[in-house]
Amino acid sequence: MSRLVNDETAYQSIFEELHQHPELSLHEYETTAKIRDWLQEQSITLRETSLPTGVFAEISGDPNGPAVGLRADIDALPIHEQTDLPYKSRNEGVMHACGHDFHTTALLWAAALLKQNQANLPGTVRLIFQPAEETGHGGLKVVKDGQLKGLDTVIGIHNKPDLPVGTIGVKTGPLMAACDKFKITFHGIGGHAAIPERTRDPIVAASSFVQTAQTIVSRNISPKHEAVVSITSIHGGDVWNVLPGEVELLGTVRTFYDQDRDLIIDRFAEIADGLQKACNVQIAVEWGQGTPSVFNDEKITRIVREANENEVQVVTPEVSVAGDDFSCFQREVPGVFAFVGSNGPEDWHHPAFHVDPEGIRIAAEFYYRSAVAVLKALKDSNVH
Ligand SMILES: [Zn+2]
Ligand SMILES: [Zn+2]
Repeated sequence: MSRLVNDETAYQSIFEELHQHPELSLHEYETTAKIRDWLQEQSITLRETSLPTGVFAEISGDPNGPAVGLRADIDALPIHEQTDLPYKSRNEGVMHACGHDFHTTALLWAAALLKQNQANLPGTVRLIFQPAEETGHGGLKVVKDGQLKGLDTVIGIHNKPDLPVGTIGVKTGPLMAACDKFKITFHGIGGHAAIPERTRDPIVAASSFVQTAQTIVSRNISPKHEAVVSITSIHGGDVWNVLPGEVELLGTVRTFYDQDRDLIIDRFAEIADGLQKACNVQIAVEWGQGTPSVFNDEKITRIVREANENEVQVVTPEVSVAGDDFSCFQREVPGVFAFVGSNGPEDWHHPAFHVDPEGIRIAAEFYYRSAVAVLKALKDSNVH
């Protein structure tokens, strides 16, 4: 058996190795090769894939039992690292600033624990090392590659810098936001600022849109649901004495429930429609649909909570308005996403972000314990 099973220092070196060599989304070639090597070193069966990056593997105890997927993302960000870590990034301008090196190491560790106990596993554990989470494209590629086929459930984690090491944050229902973006173009007729009657002013229309859009969260969404509408860019005109012919707005919408997401899309269309008539301009609304919200299944969440609450501190976390494309998996099979305390000074995507590597062992054990508990519960209830 592998040296990796119980050797904590081996995981510290794997983590440092990954941290020193971060790779951008869909370019995780070296990371992929290393993960494959580490898994093969433990005689873990790799699954075939058509994806150039990402690794998929399987550990099967009872082949007729249920199947659970464990997911870690493996990509890094285009950020110049500003830490003093002895193992800081050697890839200039690329950094593991979201801690996906933490997730990858934890899943490798969990894989070793699962492999060691393979004979006793009441089903199959599929290991999903997912590429390109940061661009929001990887999750869907993994689904389309068939890597979720045959799974009964899926479990994922994200490190959480504001939770101490030894704490797991897990809750039923919404955990992370759906992240959409939009562009709205107001087409009017420009002209002399002193002769407005010959123009169709897109600035007045755009200003009304900004004001009215801000009533959606306060007047149309239930006060019990979190949601954000932010207009982040407004462009039109160049000089003080000419009315422009066009104004462009950019922004983002964050929601946790599908009905709120749909409602905001509808309200944008209605407001645009009304303003077209009121302001006599043409308004084009373009939606950039991002990943849906991370939404945890009630039953699987309960099993995972119960399996962990005697071993670590389990808390109910606040929702995060950031997103994670683990949500694409949850649209295929019910699943749970959990926060694992990593006790960092900075939040995700900060150039000085770093995790406490002590949290990796907690994350590995969380993966292991949760997978075994879920397999057992599903087998007992004959759900699969
Ligand atoms: Zn991130
Ligand atoms: Zn992340």
